[in-house]
Amino acid sequence: MSERLSDPQRSEEDAAEATLRPQTLDDFTGQKASRENLAIFIQAARTRGEALDHVLLHGPPGLGKTTLAQIVAREMGVGFRATSGPVLQRAGDLAAILTNLQPRDVLFVDEIHRLQPALEETLYPAMEDFQLDLIIGEGPAARTVRIDLPPFTLVGATTRAGLLATPLRDRFGIPLRLQFYTPEELLLIVRRGAQKLGFALAEEGAEEIANRSRGTPRIAGRLLRRVRDFALVSGQVADRTMADAALNRLEVDSRGLDAMDRRYLRRIAEHHGGGPVGVETLAAALAEGRDTLEDVVEPYLIQEGYVLRTPRGRVLGDPGWRHLGLAPPAGSQP
Ligand code: ATP
Repeated sequence: MSERLSDPQRSEEDAAEATLRPQTLDDFTGQKASRENLAIFIQAARTRGEALDHVLLHGPPGLGKTTLAQIVAREMGVGFRATSGPVLQRAGDLAAILTNLQPRDVLFVDEIHRLQPALEETLYPAMEDFQLDLIIGEGPAARTVRIDLPPFTLVGATTRAGLLATPLRDRFGIPLRLQFYTPEELLLIVRRGAQKLGFALAEEGAEEIANRSRGTPRIAGRLLRRVRDFALVSGQVADRTMADAALNRLEVDSRGLDAMDRRYLRRIAEHHGGGPVGVETLAAALAEGRDTLEDVVEPYLIQEGYVLRTPRGRVLGDPGWRHLGLAPPAGSQP
């Protein structure tokens, strides 16, 4: 996993983020539509005394999928079990988890798009009818045993819903797409985070961090902790100047882009005249996986218009050219 400071993916250091995690839906900032829908479905399920329908959370890393899954369990007043697509190797692993659930529990499966196809098929009857078909034995002696499962809620998380097989995607009654956060929402998150850490952060320092967090709470939490370190060591007040100096030293620029983002934009500008260029070519040139570019680097750059995704490949948008301090060539894409 990369060591980028503004990499929205989870890293070892983020163990500290548990302290900043919101615990209830009311405490969860942003994602208004998803939050309001969840609140209604949870209340309805609780009133009926049933398990909540299966929930699919999709969106770029670090936007709060794990956090929301935990909140769903807490608000439902049920247990929470977590696993992930790549960790589950055999049908037996999945069967062990499913048969140990209590009625209405939440089972969180992160990176569900990386589940093995055979396990996906095991999941279909489990999700639909709360039944598990297990094959016992091998060869001619093999037989299928059907096991009843307690009703449960599967909360699946994925960076891109398009990577899921259609039959799996269709079995989630509540699909929710998480969006990047606005600077105002991030400001609330940063303020609350500073409070939880007991860190005297000036309002303008908080604004600076919020504006440079790439729309992502995980990055906001990470930048907050780093600025706190700089403030502690320098003995200065954590105001805008101090936050700005700290973030510049971390190579997070005024728009929140980091070294990887800038390498990506520069590559398209300088080697491909602004594009179009295929994502495979970019991935090879930058020595990054195509998935990392598509799931981690590009979503924010595309949302902010730095880059456009066209059928012929990636094209630098005007904001991309301006950010690099270059003039867009005449007739380039807006
Ligand atoms: P990944 O897909 O990489 O696992 P994720 O989308 O599951 O990421 P989380 O682990 O839930 O992201 O959140 C990352 C961090 O951001 C956590 O520390 C969490 O406290 C914080 N966070 C996420 N959403 C919010 C929010 N709405 N308000 C406050 N903090 C948040």
